[in-house]
Amino acid sequence: MNKDNHQTINRRDFLKIVGISTATTAPLLSGCSSNNRANAGTSSSTPIPTDQMTHRTTPSTKDKVSILGYGCMRLPTIAKSSARESDDEIDQEMVNRLTDYAIEHGVNYFDTSPAYCKGRSEHAVGIALSRYPRDKYYIATKLSNFSPDTWSREASIAMYHNSLKELQVDYLDYMLLHGIGMGGMEAYENRYVKNGILDFLLEERKAGRIRNLGFSYHGDIEVFDYLLSKHDEYQWDFVQIQLNYLDWKHAKEINPRNTDAEYLYGELQKRGIPAIIMEPLLGGRLSNVHDHIVARLKQREPGRSVASWAFRFAGSFPGVLTVLSGMTYMEHLQDNLRSFCPLQPLTEEENHFLFDTADLMMQYPTVPCNDCKYCMPCPYGIDIPGILLHYNKCVNEGNVPQGGQDENYREARRAYLIGYDRSVPKLRQADHCTSCGQCNPHCPQGIDIPKVLQRIDHFVEQLKQETL
Ligand code: SF4
Ligand code: SF4
Repeated sequence: MNKDNHQTINRRDFLKIVGISTATTAPLLSGCSSNNRANAGTSSSTPIPTDQMTHRTTPSTKDKVSILGYGCMRLPTIAKSSARESDDEIDQEMVNRLTDYAIEHGVNYFDTSPAYCKGRSEHAVGIALSRYPRDKYYIATKLSNFSPDTWSREASIAMYHNSLKELQVDYLDYMLLHGIGMGGMEAYENRYVKNGILDFLLEERKAGRIRNLGFSYHGDIEVFDYLLSKHDEYQWDFVQIQLNYLDWKHAKEINPRNTDAEYLYGELQKRGIPAIIMEPLLGGRLSNVHDHIVARLKQREPGRSVASWAFRFAGSFPGVLTVLSGMTYMEHLQDNLRSFCPLQPLTEEENHFLFDTADLMMQYPTVPCNDCKYCMPCPYGIDIPGILLHYNKCVNEGNVPQGGQDENYREARRAYLIGYDRSVPKLRQADHCTSCGQCNPHCPQGIDIPKVLQRIDHFVEQLKQETL
C-alpha cells in the first residue's frame, strides 16, 4: 500500500480534491431514487385513518384543500420506474389505484403540468380523476410555455386548451404561470406579457374557467418581487414556492442564485397570499440524509420517518395551503399520509431542533445535486447525476475514505470504488467527461459540473492507485 497516497487523501484534502468547500456544500441526497426517496426510516405499520386529513382554506374561493397535495410529476410506469425519467408506458391502473387511495384518505389537491412525465401526466391524471364527481377534487395545472416555440399567443392558448382537454374538465381550480423567475425578467416578459397571455389568464379567471390564479417561483428573485409588487392589480390567489427546513435559512448559501424560504414565505404572508409548497424534501435530500442525521432524528422520535420531519415543518406554517409531494409508489403515499392525517404542527422547540439539524447538515460535504436531470443528456454519455449521487451517498453513509490514518479507510475505499462501478457504467464515468461545459448552463443548482467531475475523477484515480 502506498503510504504517500494515503496521506494525500485526508478529509481536508478530499474536500479540496472535489472542489467543494463547506461553505458551498449542501447536505445531500443521493440515492434519491424513487424507491427510497420518501421513506427513510419509516417504521410505522399502523392503519392510516381515512377521516383525519388536515385541511386549509383558500381565502379567495373558500376551497377546503388537503394539506397533502398529490404532485403528479413522477407517476409510475409499467416497468416500475418513474415516468419523469422513463419513456416506459405509464401504469394507468396503478395511477388509478394511487388516486383512489389518496382520495379515500382525504387528499383532494392534484398538481400536474403539460411538462410533467414527458408530457403524459395531464392525460393520465385526467383519466384517474374523471372517474370522480368534479366537486370531489381540485386540479392544478400550469402554463408551461418554456420553449420559445410556445411563446406565441396562439401556441400558449393552445397549450391551455389542451390542458382542459387532457384533464377532461371545463374549468381549472388552480392555474399557475409555471417556473416564474427562470430566465429572469426577459423570459417572463416573453412568456406572459408581450403575447398578452397574462391578460388572457386574468380574463379566464373572470369568466370562471380558472378559479384561482397564481404562479410557481424558481430562480430570479427580481421577478418574484416584481410580481408581488403587482399584487393589487393581479390579485394572486396563491403562489407556489420551495420551502423546507434546509432552504429556510440556507438556500442562498447552497446556491447564491437561490433565495431563502424565510424571505419568500414572509413576503407572501405580508400580503395575505397563501403558499403552496414544492420540494418539501428538497428533491429527496431530506429523506436521504447522513447516517448521523438519521440517528439524531430517530433518537428524538423513533416512530417517525425521517421524511415526516420535513413534511411537518412545511405544513406547520399557517399560511401554507398544501404541501406537494410527488408520489410514485404506494409506500410513498402511505408514509406521507401518516404525516398529515392529521398534521401535528411542530412546536417552537421542535422547530429549533430542525434548524440546528439543518446547520449540522450543512457541514457534510455533499454536492447540491437534486437529481433533476436538467443537465442530461450529456453529449458524451456521462451519467452526471449518477456520479454525483454515488458520491453523495458515500458521504452520507460514511464511505468517503478520509486518509490512511482513518481506521475505516480500506473498507470505505472498497465501498466507494465497487459502488461506483455498480452505479455508473464505466463508459459513463467522470473520466470520460471532455469538460465541454455544455451541461453547466442547465444546472439550476449552479454546480460547476465539469469541475466537480474532474475532481471526483482525480479522487477516484487516487483511490485506485491503492491496492484493494
Ligand atoms: S462538461 Fe462533461 S458532463 Fe458536461 S456535457 Fe460536457 S462532457 Fe458531458
Ligand atoms: S442539473 Fe444539476 S442538480 Fe440537476 S441533476 Fe444535473 S447536476 Fe444535478
